[in-house]
Amino acid sequence: MYTNLVIDADLIRKYGGNGPRYTSYPTADRFVEAFDADVYRHWLRNRNVGGISRPLSLYVHLPFCGTVCYYCACNKIVTGDRSRSAPYISYLAREVELLCTELGEDRAASQVHFGGGTPTFLPDNELRELMRVLGSGFKLNPAGEYAIEIDPRGVGEERVALLAELGFNRMSLGVQDFDPVVQRAVNRIQTIEQTLETTLAARRHGFRSINYDLIYGLPRQTLEGFSRTLDLVCEAAPDRIALYSYAHLPAVFMPQRRIAAADLPTPEVKLQLMTQAIAKFSAAGYVYIGMDHFARPDDDLALAQRQGRLTRNFQGYSSAGDADTLAIGVSAISNVGPTYSQNYKELDDYAARLDDGVLPVLRGIELSADDLARSAVIQSLACHFRVSKESISIAHLIDFDSYFTHEMSHLALLRDDGLVDIDDEWITVTPSGRLLVRAVCMVFDRYLSQGQARAQYSRVL
Ligand code: SF4
Repeated sequence: MYTNLVIDADLIRKYGGNGPRYTSYPTADRFVEAFDADVYRHWLRNRNVGGISRPLSLYVHLPFCGTVCYYCACNKIVTGDRSRSAPYISYLAREVELLCTELGEDRAASQVHFGGGTPTFLPDNELRELMRVLGSGFKLNPAGEYAIEIDPRGVGEERVALLAELGFNRMSLGVQDFDPVVQRAVNRIQTIEQTLETTLAARRHGFRSINYDLIYGLPRQTLEGFSRTLDLVCEAAPDRIALYSYAHLPAVFMPQRRIAAADLPTPEVKLQLMTQAIAKFSAAGYVYIGMDHFARPDDDLALAQRQGRLTRNFQGYSSAGDADTLAIGVSAISNVGPTYSQNYKELDDYAARLDDGVLPVLRGIELSADDLARSAVIQSLACHFRVSKESISIAHLIDFDSYFTHEMSHLALLRDDGLVDIDDEWITVTPSGRLLVRAVCMVFDRYLSQGQARAQYSRVL
């Protein structure tokens, strides 16, 4: 029934608890303020020590949204004042200038990703200006990946044409659910026509990959209503689909306080919503990539997975290989060499640092040898559902089984439950364990085993 998955409800009930999405390891809550702008500058300057540097990937965070979606867990600024983005673009330009000063000549970038918030909150002239700023600071590869997150409300043919002209060739559309009852409950009214118009325009203008974001577990969601949404999605045939589980954490995310817990589907219905979605995606020919992601077999993500070069980063899965991510903008997270660093989360703090001529770094982390080994294990599990003990041992100068003695005895419990197979050379996530790969990764997370609270994370499923 499913291409590369087995859905086991009992395993999901047992292992589907809270856990990180592992867009980084260590996760951002382990970052420390001792990692400041000076440490970041050091790593920027020494990125290519030894003459080998990873290519650059640029992430730009555009935090503004015109209205708030009640399920939202993003770092955003909700405002009806369209003039707020212009000064922000000037600050982004200052940050680019500071970064380029540190990088010297080493400024070739082959990926650009605009995320938010709502990048398309920016009017045309500001989008143009921002691409001009990036183009003058970095050597952008015209054959690279240029991705943007789109709110289809307000992105018709003309805007899509502009985005294509600016070089964008991938887009991700926020859809969530087409059911008007659910849309009202989450304060995101978006017609089917708006989504389809943006999709068709993207195809006409040569976008190479189109992703739809969907969420299950939203208030007022029903099997019948979500079934209609899924049929429409499969008919629209995006290249990729991200199917997220709604995590109701009103104590952490303010907008979620507008959602009544009584309107949420029960855990059993939520499981059926997910099962139904996976069945329809499989029938429509999508393959499961991992975590929350599905792709058509001919999409770059599926290809990269088959070829063993899929990676995972703050934007999710990537087919573009290993890169240093320079993240620009408020709250954005960079990954340069063996470090992660995050910019100030509040706009005023971010701007004040740039006014002082300093990179706006709030906190970060330099990965230890132990972090790097665990990160490699988690990446391999998350991207390829298996890890070679020998590869990790050679790359990190350890003996896998003795270094991870504690983890291997924990993993034996997951093997007994059918989530993983273990032999002398490989740990392999089984088809029944694939949906729960986050739970397998968690075994290798040293910080979780040290008793860090899990309540802040979303459920695995
Ligand atoms: S879900 Fe997206 S569009 Fe909605 S408030 Fe959050 S960032 Fe803005």
